[in-house]
Amino acid sequence: MAAILGGGLGGLSTAYYLLKNNVSNNNNLRLFLLEATNYCGGWIKSIKTKDYIFEQGPRTIRPKGITGLNTLNMMEDLGLSEHLSPVSADHPAAKNRMIYVNQHLHTLPSSLKGVFQKNLPFSKPLIYALFNDITQPYKQLQDDSIYNFVERRFGKEIADYAISPMICGICAGDAKEISVKFLMKTLFEWEQNHGGVVKGMMKSIFKSKSGEELELSNLAKKAQEEKWNVYTIKGGLETFPVTLCEFLKQSEVDVNLNTRIEDLEFMDSSTVLLKNSNGEKLKVNHVYSSIPAYSLAKLVQKQHPELSQYLNDIPFVTVGIVNLYFATDKELVAPAFGFLVPPIENSPILGVVFDSCCTPHQNGTVLTVMLGGRWFKEKFGDNVTEKKLLDVAVQEINKILNIKEKPSVYNVNILEKCIPQYVIGHYERVGKIRQYIHDNNLPISLVGSSYDGVGINDVIYSAKKQVEEDCT
Ligand SMILES: Cc1cc2nc3c(=O)[nH]c(=O)nc-3n(C[C@H](O)[C@H](O)[C@H](O)COP(=O)(O)OP(=O)(O)OC[C@H]3O[C@@H](n4cnc5c(N)ncnc54)[C@H](O)[C@@H]3O)c2cc1C
Repeated sequence: MAAILGGGLGGLSTAYYLLKNNVSNNNNLRLFLLEATNYCGGWIKSIKTKDYIFEQGPRTIRPKGITGLNTLNMMEDLGLSEHLSPVSADHPAAKNRMIYVNQHLHTLPSSLKGVFQKNLPFSKPLIYALFNDITQPYKQLQDDSIYNFVERRFGKEIADYAISPMICGICAGDAKEISVKFLMKTLFEWEQNHGGVVKGMMKSIFKSKSGEELELSNLAKKAQEEKWNVYTIKGGLETFPVTLCEFLKQSEVDVNLNTRIEDLEFMDSSTVLLKNSNGEKLKVNHVYSSIPAYSLAKLVQKQHPELSQYLNDIPFVTVGIVNLYFATDKELVAPAFGFLVPPIENSPILGVVFDSCCTPHQNGTVLTVMLGGRWFKEKFGDNVTEKKLLDVAVQEINKILNIKEKPSVYNVNILEKCIPQYVIGHYERVGKIRQYIHDNNLPISLVGSSYDGVGINDVIYSAKKQVEEDCT
């Protein structure tokens, strides 16, 4: 018997891969999925009406790389192929990504040609960044912030106007704190091993590629052939966890909603006693924890304070989400994915997504404003109201996008501690956590966004890898 703590995408995909491995190994493993709330899907939540879709958490999924293709394999297996809505590489939502700097929106270059041209707010064509890398000395380091690394190799403007907003867009974090290994592990290794990124890249061209292989579904092949940039799901992203959860229930996974685990006791190397908020107990042989690291820290505190401390050392940030719908035939924004605001601008907002451009079949203009993140407390204090966030969001889009209309419908959410921050030393910390579990023979495996990647694809792929490792 195994229990999966948490019914977000991490927990759901762990159950999915356990089932798949179970079936292929002819085992008869009984699975319990224990979710604190009345809903499976975690941060993935959509509000759908006939006129608009509001995504309250994630909205787009990338189809590229082994993790992206793996998610598409799962989508096809769940029968979701026809529900996907791809954004192709030549669509404005793929080509037009903007940043807001010095009171202006600037489109970032999206083609090779653009790299040779001067694009404001950069003072020189981006190709100059490569000359900078070739001429700069390198520093021997174990880890570094992504900001420091990019500033050292490619210059301050790239760090301020390209990487810092990108980090805000991906994890609502501060590039000056986030580990370079989060996005640029290979580039950092090139610098460390060869003295620079360009030098490392030149040497790697002559090395044979030894990447992981994945058998591709028809859907994954289609996404490659049609060069999808990102995709959404018609009717809202929520369709994905809801379908996955239905599949698990039909496959006899015991899905328990409204079941918050409040106590966990390791009895021996193959017995764990779980207690939920209703006082009910469950004894299992193995636990897969997909709940946030800080939640697991509380559960192991009594028996393993050192492990609890390592888990608590993974910080999380809070994000304000304001969805806005304008019921108008007039195009209120230019066709684009949206824009991000570099932290150097000191704005209360992280960026705005132009949902009605990315997701078809919306009857008007739909925008999502993201606020706070790493700077949530600094900008809004401890007791901010949803009304205050709405006012700030409306004020900012009025100023930046010149939208004078009042939204016809809005939805505001404060997502408390929703995104883990992979700060400098994160990967070493996760290594220590797993080493502790191994050394103490604890029957627990770690999945979910706290450890091996914060995006949807990472969470699914790391669940697959963890299950494969445990089943061999
Ligand atoms: C605002 C926002 C926007 C995002 N945008 C994107 C995007 O566009 N593309 C992308 O790829 N990724 C995006 N992400 C990331 C993506 O949402 C996450 O990778 C993914 O949802 C994480 O899933 P998870 O299962 O690890 O965690 P969660 O979704 O946090 O799920 C954990 C679950 O555990 C439950 N739980 C907690 N404690 C207990 C307990 N004690 N007992 C039982 N259950 C418990 C919770 O209720 C929750 O359901 C975004 C995230 C946020 C917050």
